[in-house]
Amino acid sequence: MYLKRRLREDLFIFKSLRFPYVKKTSFKGFRYNATIGIGGNIGDVKRRFEHLFVALQKERSLDIKATSLILQNPPFGYTKQDDFFNSIMVVSTNMTPQRFLQYLLHLEKKFARKRSFANAPRTLDLDIIFFDNRTISTQNLKVPHPCWAERESVVIPLASMHR
Ligand code: AMP
Repeated sequence: MYLKRRLREDLFIFKSLRFPYVKKTSFKGFRYNATIGIGGNIGDVKRRFEHLFVALQKERSLDIKATSLILQNPPFGYTKQDDFFNSIMVVSTNMTPQRFLQYLLHLEKKFARKRSFANAPRTLDLDIIFFDNRTISTQNLKVPHPCWAERESVVIPLASMHR
């Protein structure tokens, strides 16, 4: 069940039981907080987000602390494709940033992401937006995620969590 609201001519927000979500009892056992951007535009993306939430909830190596609402927004770059759905999840974990990136890539595979070309349609895209307040600039990992501040798909869901 989703509550749908038009935010602007080309933007819609969706709310459900798990999006947005805030964990009431905060578990303090994990060292780091990671903010993940989740997105997709193939098939039933909102349903996939729900499955991802349930899969992450079962993980012993992390704890979901909060999620944002879901934003439906038009594609950029390659525009002849369906609208994207995007949301934010904040999790705590003891995984290092590199280990956490590998974990997210594994999850993308599990949710059958096919890599074709830049900005191509995708089933599930998982990006590390922030990792605590660290700045990381290695060949395979840039944190904060480059351009996060210019993307409505990140900024609008993120802002909705901090009201
Ligand atoms: P894309 O499919 O366009 O999201 O790109 C995925 C690749 O971007 C991954 O294989 C990572 O090596 C690289 N990457 C660099 N920084 C990040 C980040 N902050 N979060 C996720 N992937 C990243």
